[in-house]
Amino acid sequence: MPTAVSEELNVYESAEARFEIAAEKLGLEQGLYRYMKYPEREITVYIPVALDSGQIAVFTGYRVLHSTVRGPGKGGVRFAPDVSIDEVRALAAWMTWKCAVVDIPFGGAKGGVICNPAKLSKSELERVTRRYTAALSDWLGPERDIPAPDIGTNDQIMAWIMDTYSMHVRQATTAVVTGKPLDLGGSQGRKEATGRGLMICCDKAISKLGLKRDSTRVIVQGFGNVGSEGSLLMHQAGYKIIGAADVNGAIYNENGLDIPKLYDWVYHQRRSLPEFAGGERTTAQEILFRSCDILVPAATENQITSQNAHRVDCKILCEGANGPTTAHADSIIEKKGIFVIPDILGNAGGVTVSYFEWVQDRQGFFWRESEVNERLQDVMEHSFDQVVRYAEAHSVNNRIAAYIVAIDRVARALKLRGFYA
Ligand code: NAD
Repeated sequence: MPTAVSEELNVYESAEARFEIAAEKLGLEQGLYRYMKYPEREITVYIPVALDSGQIAVFTGYRVLHSTVRGPGKGGVRFAPDVSIDEVRALAAWMTWKCAVVDIPFGGAKGGVICNPAKLSKSELERVTRRYTAALSDWLGPERDIPAPDIGTNDQIMAWIMDTYSMHVRQATTAVVTGKPLDLGGSQGRKEATGRGLMICCDKAISKLGLKRDSTRVIVQGFGNVGSEGSLLMHQAGYKIIGAADVNGAIYNENGLDIPKLYDWVYHQRRSLPEFAGGERTTAQEILFRSCDILVPAATENQITSQNAHRVDCKILCEGANGPTTAHADSIIEKKGIFVIPDILGNAGGVTVSYFEWVQDRQGFFWRESEVNERLQDVMEHSFDQVVRYAEAHSVNNRIAAYIVAIDRVARALKLRGFYA
């Protein structure tokens, strides 16, 4: 199917394509299809911020609420120079399906600000965050829409969102945002949650394929929150991480990288990942095509496309990032017989522990890390089993099965609610 590259790389088109295949296989009624296809609300805000130089800059920010059918909107906030409304719209829809796959009572939302956080001072970043939050304060809330971290945002930014919102509603409201610092109503285990969820899915997949952790070679692209925490946990569990990459480049070592040392190198010594002395240097793209058992793209969208999918050489593709594989690459990956753990399942550990954080904040009662991890394990294993069972029973690939499980749950909730007129 020859298509313009720009269309293939439009994440909204990619998200739509999978939704359409799944909706058709599910036999979704036309009315429900139309209802779920479009977001409930899209907001654009222009954020005036005084820079340290005294000049005023105006940043563009978005918040898209895709669905509140199963509960309040839930989704991260991305600070990056290439944020676009199409990207935020796609990510918001993916959040709806992701929350439904793991059966947590949230809808889907996503936000973003077009900015380069690496070029802003800490105080400029704080002012951007506070003004963005203030502009959206009528639409956010623990029962309305709950942001979380994503690319370019972190627990400090979540703390500023919580404080700004609390000032507006005149009461401390920790449950308005998740991924907060532990001292401010954050949850134990949240920082590692997305990586832990990935590992739980990989454990299930290797046992299905008859592999053992200590002979399973893993390559991880992206060494941010998801990639670094995931690599560390998998290394500790016995997996052999043979490749790692960040935006600056990659390193490869067929005997396995010393991940705790690499983590220390990047996060404590603040050195550049590809300069780590424990492996051969290559590019962040090329690392995707080295032979391995599990490939974990955990950086950004559109890494595996119709142009390069034939070069992917792994048994399991476990998606840590949102949308790392384009819809056009799906059939190539499927033909190669690769076992796919799709993003809306693979990286759902993050939103699952965000849900636990929201529950704990609302109860004012906090759980031990072991309790958080046990509950996460239970949710991820159960969701993995449901998706794989559906795929096998209905002869569809795992990605379409995950969408079908999710769309069916949202459709059932929608029918029960009926249409307010
Ligand atoms: P992050 O900002 O902490 O890290 C991103 C990492 O990717 C960095 O190491 C960066 O250098 C690297 N990177 C960026 N562009 C790259 C490229 N072209 N090639 C190689 N490396 C590149 O972000 P994160 O929170 O780890 O999120 C990563 C992905 O996972 C995103 O798609 C995000 O939406 C998704 N995700 C994150 C969470 C979460 O809990 N943080 C949950 C679910 C999904």
